[in-house]
Amino acid sequence: MYYLSTRDDKVKVTASQAVLKGLSDDGGLFVPEEIPALTTSFEELSRMDYRHVAYDVMSRFFTDYTEDELKSCIERAYDSKFETKNIAELKKADGVWFLELYHGKTIAFKDMALSILPHLLTTAAKKNNVSEEIVILTATSGDTGKAALAGFQDVPGTRIIVFYPKDGVSRVQELQMVTQKGENTKVIAIRGNFDDAQTGVKKMFNDHDLNERLKKNGFLFSSANSINIGRLIPQVVYYVYAYSRLLGKGEIKPGEKINIVVPTGNFGNILAAYYAKKMGLPVNKLICASNENKVLFDFFTTGTYDRNRPFILTSSPSMDILISSNLERLIYHAAGNSASKCRALMEELSTNGRYTVSDEMKANITDFVGGFATEAETKAVIGRIFKNDSYVIDTHTAVAASVYEKYRETTGDNTVSVIASTASPYKFSGAVVSGIKGNSEAGDKKTTDEFAIIDELQKLSGLPLPEAVKEIKTAEVRHTTVCDADKMQAEVEKTLGIH
Ligand SMILES: *Cc1c(COP(=O)(O)O)cnc(C)c1O
Repeated sequence: MYYLSTRDDKVKVTASQAVLKGLSDDGGLFVPEEIPALTTSFEELSRMDYRHVAYDVMSRFFTDYTEDELKSCIERAYDSKFETKNIAELKKADGVWFLELYHGKTIAFKDMALSILPHLLTTAAKKNNVSEEIVILTATSGDTGKAALAGFQDVPGTRIIVFYPKDGVSRVQELQMVTQKGENTKVIAIRGNFDDAQTGVKKMFNDHDLNERLKKNGFLFSSANSINIGRLIPQVVYYVYAYSRLLGKGEIKPGEKINIVVPTGNFGNILAAYYAKKMGLPVNKLICASNENKVLFDFFTTGTYDRNRPFILTSSPSMDILISSNLERLIYHAAGNSASKCRALMEELSTNGRYTVSDEMKANITDFVGGFATEAETKAVIGRIFKNDSYVIDTHTAVAASVYEKYRETTGDNTVSVIASTASPYKFSGAVVSGIKGNSEAGDKKTTDEFAIIDELQKLSGLPLPEAVKEIKTAEVRHTTVCDADKMQAEVEKTLGIH
């Protein structure tokens, strides 16, 4: 199977080339030329463990990887790094199933894909005779950087350099990064905000002279960004896995449809659920949940995507996003896999910050329902689910729970539903504690001691502390570099020892 670009009909690459390149040269995203069908029965899948389901799903997409190559990637990714041997857990509360995707190294769902991406990438380099050492360059507002660091730590043939805004991440997030182990890791704080970091990284990717000098020194830049199909496809797996577990438990009958609810930012996680549906997973609605940055809710209700609006800082920061990059793939499919139509809309987005899809395209995306939750609703649902079911959810998951609750009330749709639970409550303890206590005081990350809040959350909830939190309490700080935003390239050159 080949991969095509969403912006140029003439581009056609193998899966491993798509993983290596990340983004097509025309600025488009790689899409599979067709979505493969799941031919293994769900009864069979229900008897397989996570790794076997992962192989069954991924082998249909990564067709130029050999069986041994792909199995080895899967085995190295989904092992004892996860705190549960099931890799993902399903828990029922409030009449809905929570699919806990946060039992990996950095306690957020990004581990599900970033645990395997380094292996897919280094295997792809070998297959394509790339001899350079791969340098992953990432700007982060918190979660992605740490998950990428953990994924690439000590993976032979790779280095990873992560930039974060010095005053723009939570204390826990910063500690997670600056204590990162691994001989091939480097973490640098910049004096500036996330946009400065992001701009600096993009500039280096596009700097021809720098890329030439890297090559001479035996290095090649690559990205761990969520638009890489090496991150998208591994996310399809857990929806298939969740369905097969529900079937195995007798909670649904063979062929019975489920709803999937996803707290959404860059549109990667929910697009993976859409691909699962296209493979044949019985899905009724895909419910796309936004926080107060509700650009996707507006898109699904009106057909107009408009990023011209204030950027709102919320208690679910990983969803504070106004350009959902992965939506481009849905636009491409909704336009009948037309690269020219997709490119025209993406050009409108970059020049005017908005575009409107045709009625025909809108009719092609009725699988999706958009919803959003306010800050008050998000905290309220954390409190209510804790009070009724003694179950604790984080702020991102709470956005989805609130949207689902409103969906169920307004539509009367009682289809069995699964909510993607994307982070451990401990990662956002302040806001979670204030939700549980029903006040709006606690949770200001600037004025409270995060470890005191973590202790309080543990006392309130009785939830065991994940290894990731225990670790940072005592771990040695290994990364202390701070630089100005315009000195990022100099730091990269110094780290790699190139001139
Ligand atoms: C990244 C992230 C999201 C958003 O996922 P997308 O794939 O970008 O839509 C939601 N919750 C958490 C905790 C995240 O880290």
